[in-house]
Amino acid sequence: MPVLSDVISALDTLWPRAWAQDWDAVGTVCGDPDAEVSRVLFAVDPVREIADEAVAVGADLLVTHHPLYLRGTSTVAADTFKGRVVHTLITNGVALHVAHTNADIADPGVSDALAAALDLRVTGPLAPDPADREGRRGLGRLCALDRPMTLAAFAEHAAARLPATAQGVRASGDPDRPVRTVAVSGGAGDSLFAEVRAAGADAYLTADLRHHPASEAREHAPVALLDAAHWATEWPWCQQAAAQLDAVSERRGWGLRTQVSHRVTDPWILHQPSPSPRVSHPAP
Ligand SMILES: [Zn+2]
Repeated sequence: MPVLSDVISALDTLWPRAWAQDWDAVGTVCGDPDAEVSRVLFAVDPVREIADEAVAVGADLLVTHHPLYLRGTSTVAADTFKGRVVHTLITNGVALHVAHTNADIADPGVSDALAAALDLRVTGPLAPDPADREGRRGLGRLCALDRPMTLAAFAEHAAARLPATAQGVRASGDPDRPVRTVAVSGGAGDSLFAEVRAAGADAYLTADLRHHPASEAREHAPVALLDAAHWATEWPWCQQAAAQLDAVSERRGWGLRTQVSHRVTDPWILHQPSPSPRVSHPAP
């Protein structure tokens, strides 16, 4: 049976910490390097209900996409919700490891899993990592649809293929415009509009699109926008990551048992459309 340091070094090979953005906080949050690991749980958010689930399923290691302490801390006292998570994990012998922007940029990365969930064919990174000579790593992915569909049909397709959330999928653009090429970025992707424009994608699917960036992107270029729940765009990575660790475990004869949390930790739990929404879209 591997110990935590063995498994962490495998995870660091899949998603090297050096690939994370400067502002990020990735790596191991808690855990004894010499503790044996047999069960690993993957989830998007290191929140209390996920820590409780890790304990309930008997995980020795919880791997999350989002950092617990993105901006550092001076306390892990259990009277803060993050400190409570740390206490729950340590008390029950569960380690926590974070792979965030280093997993975004990897090949395969978070946006590859998103593209696969949407049945899209990836043609390359949206914002390539200049350090990668093969041009495969980077933020976001450019994709093609084997069968073009209208924006309305693609929005419906995305809502059906992504894990279900209260938000579903919002779209901006002419519902009848044909969509042949799509840029995708798991999580908040409004920093990549310039790359989306440069790539000339018909549509851009990401999360957390705010009024001004979305409105201005639409004024700049006729790209259609699709806004999905942040959690839903990143959850497919958990399955991809678990499969990657399974493959390592099989090669090394570790016998790890991996599983993915299906708990929806998107903060939005209710979506009430207006009784008769007034929408306008560009004239054809
Ligand atoms: Zn995220």
